[in-house]
Amino acid sequence: MENYNGEKVCRLCLNSTCSPIELTSHEAGLQMCGLCLPEIDLSICYDSALCSKCFHYLENVYIFKIRCLQTEEKLRLYLENCDPQKINLQHIMECVTNVEDELDSEICRSCLTTSSEFTSVGENDPILRNMFATCIPEMDLSLLSSPVICNSCVNRVKDFTLSNQNVYKLKEN
Ligand SMILES: [Zn+2]
Ligand SMILES: [Zn+2]
Repeated sequence: MENYNGEKVCRLCLNSTCSPIELTSHEAGLQMCGLCLPEIDLSICYDSALCSKCFHYLENVYIFKIRCLQTEEKLRLYLENCDPQKINLQHIMECVTNVEDELDSEICRSCLTTSSEFTSVGENDPILRNMFATCIPEMDLSLLSSPVICNSCVNRVKDFTLSNQNVYKLKEN
């Protein structure tokens, strides 16, 4: 995909870039792609590269996904030791952290921080719920009875969804 002036075509957005980040020799890049965009088969091209915009984007969704997976791990560990009925995140936070203040505000289901601006991802909110199901299938939103997501996480999962849609577009072409 390389032409005479060192330009390459980005594996994710298909735009040409003059400062490509070579994936073949980029351990972190490969790891991020594998975790966040498992649908992408990097073996299709022998010299996959990303433009800096997509790389930066991938870094952000990677951080977001890792954080969600850590939350999932904490919740599952907690649930192993208690009644498996649906429980409340505030109660878990009281048990897993020493922080007891601010427990009147809602706790974000994906980043576990307290927030006053949030969106519900209950069973009646399919759009956001579907975004999580697509981007982070490891997350089981039904673990808790009325999960909420803070606004920054809502924006992150929207970004993530957009990147997935670009990948699907690529597959169709
Ligand atoms: Zn790109
Ligand atoms: Zn959050």
